[in-house]
Amino acid sequence: MSKRGDFRVSVTKDYLVFASAHFITFAGHRCEGLHGHNYRVRVTMEGALNEESWFVFDFVELKRVMRRLCDEIDHLVLLPLRSDRVTVIEEGDVVRVEVDGKSRYVFPRRDCALLPIPNTTVEMLAQLLTERLRGELETQGARGLTAIEMEVEENFGQSATYRLDVS
Ligand SMILES: [Zn+2]
Repeated sequence: MSKRGDFRVSVTKDYLVFASAHFITFAGHRCEGLHGHNYRVRVTMEGALNEESWFVFDFVELKRVMRRLCDEIDHLVLLPLRSDRVTVIEEGDVVRVEVDGKSRYVFPRRDCALLPIPNTTVEMLAQLLTERLRGELETQGARGLTAIEMEVEENFGQSATYRLDVS
């Protein structure tokens, strides 16, 4: 069998979803109100064929990892920790959220996902999930991967895709 050429594998499943609340800040002083989406996630991984197993990466394992990454932020309020305008303050069992220095929300801590991103846009969520997936794959000693592509969709036809070259 030829060793030339790379394979591209893709995984998309209905259960790669997370239903979460968020709000986005825009340039200037605009800021959305709190609302939710049924986010859908599609992962594409590229890489060389592992010639012991004849796959690029184990689908079962990829699905297991992606499901866990989605579960980590499912049914939570997504809050950005690296925003210039949104300040997230943990006070015991609650999280207080200020926007532009004004108190806006108080949530139970257990209902929040505090994320190391500047804004909870689909672009930033796609990048975050890609980096978390890459960390998992490195931990597992995955070899031969050349790229990870992560698409996060918040509404039908409204999505962002992040691509990370890992070779
Ligand atoms: Zn939204």
